[in-house]
Amino acid sequence: MKSAWLLSVALAAATFSTSARSQGLDYGRIEITTDQIAPNLYMLSGSAGLDPAHEDAAGGRIGVLAGPDGILMVDAQYAELADKVLAAIRRISSAPIRFLVNTHIHRDHTGGNAKFAKMGATIFAREELREGMGNAARPSDPAAIPVVTYGMGEPVRFHMNGEIVDLIPVRAAHTGGDTMIRFENANAIMIGDYYRNFGYPFIDINNGGSLKGMLEALDATMKVARADTRLVPGHGTIIKRADLIPYRDMIFAIQEKVQQMIAQGKTQQDVLAAHVTSPYDSTVPGGLLPAAGAGTSADRFITEVYQELKGGGK
Ligand SMILES: [Zn+2]
Repeated sequence: MKSAWLLSVALAAATFSTSARSQGLDYGRIEITTDQIAPNLYMLSGSAGLDPAHEDAAGGRIGVLAGPDGILMVDAQYAELADKVLAAIRRISSAPIRFLVNTHIHRDHTGGNAKFAKMGATIFAREELREGMGNAARPSDPAAIPVVTYGMGEPVRFHMNGEIVDLIPVRAAHTGGDTMIRFENANAIMIGDYYRNFGYPFIDINNGGSLKGMLEALDATMKVARADTRLVPGHGTIIKRADLIPYRDMIFAIQEKVQQMIAQGKTQQDVLAAHVTSPYDSTVPGGLLPAAGAGTSADRFITEVYQELKGGGK
């Protein structure tokens, strides 16, 4: 099953990546597909092979909890796809979209915020995410900015459609304002982008992410999840708790290697040239594909690890 997915992703990437990259993102060609993962819980994803930043599926995955109490959405995709996302939601339910939760600030997760807010959805997110939107990532439409915010305290809890939804804050990991969203009865957790299985880990330092926080977030997820809980990343395939262990081990091993090279006085260029991810390259699909602003996703990851270790020695 997993290898079949990897193969299909590899084929999609091989077939489309060149044209997608040379033409930029062609939103018109992206379709939204819907997977029902529990009686009232659905996951919406964009087409494969059309988004150079996410060859596996365009944009970020959306969660939709639907039922008589209305709709709760998790994340909102690129703004350019909002109409297609809405159409996909309307194929599930005609109920009002009451709540929208953002796992983190990136525009492939928050771009559609304004559209759904104007339809009446109240946006929930971490205070750090809202603050971030006041800075570099300021949205063009103020309606995109979260209305209800929370910090690192107790989870925010929704009771609707027979489900209990917990917004569980995560320490600065992929960004400074990450949340995992647990659906207790469906036994599923949406984990945003602090875990990924397409490309190497992405620690967005410019948006407050950290290596230390990413490791803490993985530990926190292992505590919250049961062995059979489905963990739904923003990109890539749905996993189980056991899949987090080799991922965390890989981050630890690379951290240790980079730390050793820093202790030997190596520069960032030296560390990048040493290809310290090479033991993992064959098992990380998309790991050597280009990543925005930093060579490959392996180069981006190593740069982030180097800068955090060099900066704070954490
Ligand atoms: Zn992201």
